[in-house]
Amino acid sequence: MSPPSPSVSAIVVAAGLGSRFGGERPKQLAPLAGRPVLTHSLLVFEACPDISEIILVLPRDWLEIIVAEAVTPYLSVKPVCVVGGRSRVESTRRGFEASGGDLLLIHDGVRPLISPDLVARVARAARERGAALAAVPVRDTLKKVENRLVGATVDRRLLWQAQTPQGFQRELLARALAGAGTDGATDDIELVQRLGLSAEVVSGSARNLKITTPEDLIMAEALMNHSACFRTGHGYDLHRLAEGRPLWLGGVPVAFERGLLGHSDADVLAHALVDALLGAAGLGDIGEHFPDKDDRWAGASGALLLRESMAKVRAAGWELVNADLTLVGEKPKIGPYRQAMKEALAGALSVAPAAVNVKATTTEGMDAVGRGLALAAYAAVALKNI
Ligand code: MG
Repeated sequence: MSPPSPSVSAIVVAAGLGSRFGGERPKQLAPLAGRPVLTHSLLVFEACPDISEIILVLPRDWLEIIVAEAVTPYLSVKPVCVVGGRSRVESTRRGFEASGGDLLLIHDGVRPLISPDLVARVARAARERGAALAAVPVRDTLKKVENRLVGATVDRRLLWQAQTPQGFQRELLARALAGAGTDGATDDIELVQRLGLSAEVVSGSARNLKITTPEDLIMAEALMNHSACFRTGHGYDLHRLAEGRPLWLGGVPVAFERGLLGHSDADVLAHALVDALLGAAGLGDIGEHFPDKDDRWAGASGALLLRESMAKVRAAGWELVNADLTLVGEKPKIGPYRQAMKEALAGALSVAPAAVNVKATTTEGMDAVGRGLALAAYAAVALKNI
């Protein structure tokens, strides 16, 4: 039997307040391709199968706001959140103390274009060599400058730019943090160097840029859109109308003399939307994920099924661009409920209400729906890769 593989902790350090970025809010929260910068980094680590826990290091004054805006709506498991220190090393130390992994991967929270492949390569190198980091060769010619006069040209063949992730075996990072020389270190590998040890360099990527200035955000957005991939999905559902049941549509209760019959709350709009989301992500259908033989879903609200489905869609690497829903029925009229439905559905999906459209039509009395025996719904969605 092979020994169990060591557990891996990701420590995402996002404790800075970003003076070069300007603005009143930290750059961790700046919107990038429709979600906060930090969220992109966290979702990559959440999607890495080998990572057993995420430790998130945040600035004290912004901790609750960052968790509420960038973490809770997007991650299926909440990371362990700790307050950062005054320096980079102090923040690393606090993240380290909260972690339990045999192998530690430390990442700048504001490098949102990190790829799972680079995470895996740094982890592998750190496991074999004790410590490793992502880095890229310097591209520009470098000059020493004094008093605005050029001195020597530095041989750039020897120079690489350090990125993150930086990976460490636990004992090694413990020793490096306990060592005397932590003053002024601007990355974590330097602590290992100060022990007289080295670290393996793994080829990083120019895409793995650190958001420091507003221009970096524009470049990151352009890189993300350049590799954007879209998928569409379609869903349909129908439920019978029956006496003595409450009517739920689009996640809100609707006043009507009958309700829809089903194992859950039978919200046809929500169910059609669940099927469209699962379909677009290639994840099968509602019956597979929420079987009506399973008591867990007895009486389940449409909003709950949507929340669960959207988490699966995000875990598969997709974000909702928009959803368009059509309710088919003669009665009740949904005009007065339309805005509340948009908000309830968007809330369950953790997207802006503007991303959800709800409309209605009749079948002019022609079929079972037209005779008032049932309500049906269609949904179409577009997803974008994340
Ligand atoms: Mg249904």
